[in-house]
Amino acid sequence: MSQLLYEGKAKKMFTTDDPNVLRVVYKNDATAFNGKKKAVFPGKGKLNNAICTRIFHVLQGKGIPTHFIDKISETEQLVKAVDIIPIEVVVRNVVAGSLAKRFGLDEGVRLGRTIIEFYYKSDELGDPMINDDHAQAIGLATEKDLAEIRSLAARVNTILQDLFSEAGILLVDFKIEFGRLKTTGDIVLADEISPDSCRLWDRKTHEKLDKDVFRRNIADLPETYEKLLNRLEGVK
Ligand code: UDP
Repeated sequence: MSQLLYEGKAKKMFTTDDPNVLRVVYKNDATAFNGKKKAVFPGKGKLNNAICTRIFHVLQGKGIPTHFIDKISETEQLVKAVDIIPIEVVVRNVVAGSLAKRFGLDEGVRLGRTIIEFYYKSDELGDPMINDDHAQAIGLATEKDLAEIRSLAARVNTILQDLFSEAGILLVDFKIEFGRLKTTGDIVLADEISPDSCRLWDRKTHEKLDKDVFRRNIADLPETYEKLLNRLEGVK
């Protein structure tokens, strides 16, 4: 028996016969601006599942612990059950989005160093930005957990910068989430990494290959995600 555990904006999670394994189904829905803008794009779920699978394979191959087990159909994955740590970890290499707004910076300027930001994962509160003190004081994670999360986030950034660079793509910024394995409590990379949660620009033209094409009405979303998948598939 498979039961719906949770339905998010872009994915559904189902139980499996094994309590330590869940089935993720990628939906065709796209949302932006905290759910205020919505649309359905046939083919999106399939594309994000393929892109995310490719990315998690590369990360696992480089020793990053993740929840990913296997892609089992065009739109489904099996993943290890985790308790999600309610912190959205944003990693930035180039100025864009909320960073540009908050500090009055021009989009596209390369940062002098990588920035790692934490946001408290709460749709109700609009994901407020927090620092390590907040995270520890309100009991989201310990100092040791945060050190591990920062170190993993930085390693993921380096690996993905290389992967995308080989595909002629600039990794501007991205959001990742971590969870604690139900079995051991170990911290692993969880959720998804896809063009829904990354900013990816063509290195030469700065053409956007991510969800900003939907947020800003720039181009067709499935066509854009297909282009990204083809570029990633070209990397050996
Ligand atoms: N991001 C995300 N989910 C969120 C907020 C941000 O996946 O709830 C990603 C976003 O796609 C981008 C990066 O995190 O790649 C940084 O986003 P930013 O803070 O600039 O926010 P935005 O202005 O895009 O909402």
